[in-house]
Amino acid sequence: MAYNEKECLFCRIVRGEIPATVLYRNDHVLAFRDITPVAPAHVLIIPLKHISSLSTLAPEDEAVAGQILLAAGKVAEIVGIRESGYRLVFNSGTDAMQSVFHIHAHLIGGKQMGWPPFPGTPASHG
Ligand code: AMP
Repeated sequence: MAYNEKECLFCRIVRGEIPATVLYRNDHVLAFRDITPVAPAHVLIIPLKHISSLSTLAPEDEAVAGQILLAAGKVAEIVGIRESGYRLVFNSGTDAMQSVFHIHAHLIGGKQMGWPPFPGTPASHG
């Protein structure tokens, strides 16, 4: 697994070296359809800047973090789920099964979802 900008899969999508179905782009973020959708609408929103994960988000990334959230509403509008509702998920690290180490928000919707995500599992605060 490569974590540097040259090899990073999502950096390569940003540079247009790997094709993606791009739905939205501005000076800060890019949104494209997930290649393995888990819901009728599944879009990834990534910063153009390489940031590995939520865990490595730095104070100077405050603006770009906000741009991801702002883009979510725009993308939800573009894919037609702004009114029906959607979920924004950031997987960070091993337990969350992060597989691409360029921070991304999964925007998921287009169907009724459940909550909590692990029904029947007792909560534990370690
Ligand atoms: P995560 O497990 O949170 O790191 O999510 C990574 C996501 O990237 C997964 O949902 C993959 O399906 C998606 N993905 C991997 N490669 C591509 C690609 N070339 N284009 C679009 N989505 C991709």
